[in-house]
Amino acid sequence: MIDTHAHLSKRFCSKPIVEGIRVVLAASNIEDSRENIALAKDNSKQFLASVGIHPQQTDPENQKTIEAQVKELEEIVKQARGQVFAIGETGLDFSTAGEGEATRPKDAQIILFGRQIELGIKYQLPLIVHSRKSMDETLDFLEKYPKARGVIHCYTGGKKRIDRVVGLKSEWFFGIDGNLTYEDGLAQVVAAIPKERLVLETDSPFLAPIPHRLETNRPEYVKYVYEKVAQIWQTDLAKTENIIDANAKKLFGYK
Ligand SMILES: [Zn+2]
Repeated sequence: MIDTHAHLSKRFCSKPIVEGIRVVLAASNIEDSRENIALAKDNSKQFLASVGIHPQQTDPENQKTIEAQVKELEEIVKQARGQVFAIGETGLDFSTAGEGEATRPKDAQIILFGRQIELGIKYQLPLIVHSRKSMDETLDFLEKYPKARGVIHCYTGGKKRIDRVVGLKSEWFFGIDGNLTYEDGLAQVVAAIPKERLVLETDSPFLAPIPHRLETNRPEYVKYVYEKVAQIWQTDLAKTENIIDANAKKLFGYK
């Protein structure tokens, strides 16, 4: 089992202890990116580091320009070659920023996303794409980069955009979270996603699945998402695990 998206840096998680499963550590800013690499260095069997800058979670202290931040990100990737497994989360978010976040204007988000896509292509790393209230714009944009590949994290494009994602020139996966355990509509979407394109995630500490809903989410809870997928696919958990884990291996290229 692998949780392909969790936030375990200090500002999200007091103790990054995870039992038994692998975790892709998602980053939202430069600081998270550095922390993820340090966490993965200490525990490379369990953690795979991602580095990236979220479209909305701007760091108010950080006065650096987008270009300077992306340069810094590239330096991190260069220095930690072989230890970085993905670029992200990056993407577009046209929702109103939440508490502790600042709104980054659309045009700045587009530049930031484009630069990170280019990094992914240059260093042959998959992208972890965050898309909120912007799925069509995100897909329009990804179509301009046929060499880019990765995962649409916490996929919210419904049944109607599955073909668009599958039709992108390089291979793209759908990341599905714990809300699958309580959103019937999402179960129908998952049933329509090609089996070989599905990966599962928690987005810890957010989006905890039933039976832990409204609690702090933990990577181990991804098992409830696997169980729900097994139920949707009408197969057993072991077969489900084989398929999903093979997809995650293909996506992130870990051994
Ligand atoms: Zn996330």
